[in-house]
Amino acid sequence: MADGGPATSPDAAPDAAPDAPSDRRDFLREIVAADLAAGRITAPVTRFPPEPNGYLHIGHAKSICLNFGIAAELGGQCNLRFDDTNPVKEDQEYLDAIEHDVRWLGFDWGANLFHASDYFEQLYAWAIHLIDAGLAFVDDQSPDEIRETRGTLTAPGVNSPWRDRSIEENRDLFVRMRAGEFPNGARVLRAKIDMASPNPNLRDPVLYRILHATHPRTGDAWSIYPTYDFAHGQSDAIEGVTHSLCTLEFEGHRPLYDWLIEHLPVPHVPHQYEFARLNLTWTVLSKRVLLRLVQEGHVRGWDDPRMPTISGLRRRGFPAEGIRDFAAMIGVARTDATIEVGQLEYAVRGVLNRTAPRRFGVLDPLKVVLTNWPADRVDTLEIVNNPEDPASGTRPVAFGRELLIEREDFAEDPPPKFFRMAPGREVRLRNAYFVTCDEVVKDDEGRIVELRCTVDPATRGGDAPDGRRPKATLHWLSAAHALPAEVRLYDHLFGRSDPGADGDLLADLNPASETIVRSAMVEPSLSEATPGETVQFERLGYFTPDPDSSPDGLVFNRTLTLKDSWAKVQGRATA
Ligand code: ATP
Ligand code: MG
Repeated sequence: MADGGPATSPDAAPDAAPDAPSDRRDFLREIVAADLAAGRITAPVTRFPPEPNGYLHIGHAKSICLNFGIAAELGGQCNLRFDDTNPVKEDQEYLDAIEHDVRWLGFDWGANLFHASDYFEQLYAWAIHLIDAGLAFVDDQSPDEIRETRGTLTAPGVNSPWRDRSIEENRDLFVRMRAGEFPNGARVLRAKIDMASPNPNLRDPVLYRILHATHPRTGDAWSIYPTYDFAHGQSDAIEGVTHSLCTLEFEGHRPLYDWLIEHLPVPHVPHQYEFARLNLTWTVLSKRVLLRLVQEGHVRGWDDPRMPTISGLRRRGFPAEGIRDFAAMIGVARTDATIEVGQLEYAVRGVLNRTAPRRFGVLDPLKVVLTNWPADRVDTLEIVNNPEDPASGTRPVAFGRELLIEREDFAEDPPPKFFRMAPGREVRLRNAYFVTCDEVVKDDEGRIVELRCTVDPATRGGDAPDGRRPKATLHWLSAAHALPAEVRLYDHLFGRSDPGADGDLLADLNPASETIVRSAMVEPSLSEATPGETVQFERLGYFTPDPDSSPDGLVFNRTLTLKDSWAKVQGRATA
């Protein structure tokens, strides 16, 4: 659990309206509120600044909820800005996916969609400004030489032999860098600050490098690109960002950003504040690692339901509201911590329990024949869609002579605490009838292929007039009406809670992270469910159609089981 303000308490009521500002207070919201109260700003402007070099993950969701949340709660604006300064790693596919994911999470940047590349001309002019002020120089050293002379935490760096070039020569070379006269890596533009600074970010950092690469937006217009460090703060200044919120690893960059802002004729002064990045158990939140999993084929793609990406969680059936609730639950703090993935699942179950319609599905069907039920008789039962939500109504479900139950719900020779179906025992079929098993039918190999049962017609709806109550209630399907489906069951992508702690991350992949069940059967109404619609298969968990699903072959992902181990650990009662 992260430390921090009161809103980060795990005991915050999970059912409180997640978007209500009143129950949210963290150090960043305090800072923005104080700036508003003191009149230092009239409205907060924040931004979410992804690099379009991969798909967004749940860590980004924390930052998105924070930046858009603060803007919404405090009457401000949040921009979506792509920090697209590295064309070698960027792709239009990523730009599109990021926009889609932010919108899906429930946030809207209105007209405020920007790109660092929109500012390339301005950034170039500011680089010239630094050159003219004697604050930047063109360095002819190789990338290796620059690295080797950077110094260490304890030893200062070494001045470049090119550091004292004349302003005219610097200008001439920088203009020619832009014109594409030199090959990649031949020269860079560096700020002239202090090679002896205890902060390595101030040791003449690189501002521009030569890259003959096609940019997704500016094409071949540029042969030089600003570094992230040069583009980032200035982009915030151009957009009038008041509070530049970023993760703690940028704390050491703040003096550089402030130095640049101080020495450039920017229209506005942004202030940077850092917060702890999200780390989650049993997974890895790093685009570099996730890209590797995709490229090496360890998963079905960026949106594999086992991935911690927003697109993966969506395909898995996690509702956006559950992700937003999670972000509100964990809050924001200034100390790095690792959050239990169970906490995310807890937030998601909270939403799904309230919203997911109940349906019947059977993963491993066993046939039940009701010997006292006429062969052609079908009883259509009206079954409640969601007992948690009376407004969700009912649906018709057919009940006939041949039924399917879960194979593991029957034991021919039941162990002591097994209360489900067994020879001679009466059980309740959920919302339907009580049935009693009279006979077990086996094939030549001794495998149970059918149970012959009798039904009590007086128990229609699931209650007996005499008040007797079977110890077990089972889910079921009408064999004549059920549809076949493939069901994909998921476990953690990695086999240990701290993947990579021993070095080799890929060795920690969980070989059993996906189990495919091909013989499942589901209620016919599920043929109409679409991806993103998450339902509860009674007793089995939450499920959603996969995009691979079609009328000819239904495919469902298990979103989560019903069991909530995190809530239990926290001593909470689960429904
Ligand atoms: P990764 O480390 O996964 O490659 P990144 O930091 O390079 O991610 P960016 O596209 O630069 O990804 O991130 C956009 C924004 O999201 C940044 O402001 C960054 O601070 C924030 N962010 C990235 N990862 C996390 C995280 N795990 N928790 C919270 N915020 C994050
Ligand atoms: Mg980054």
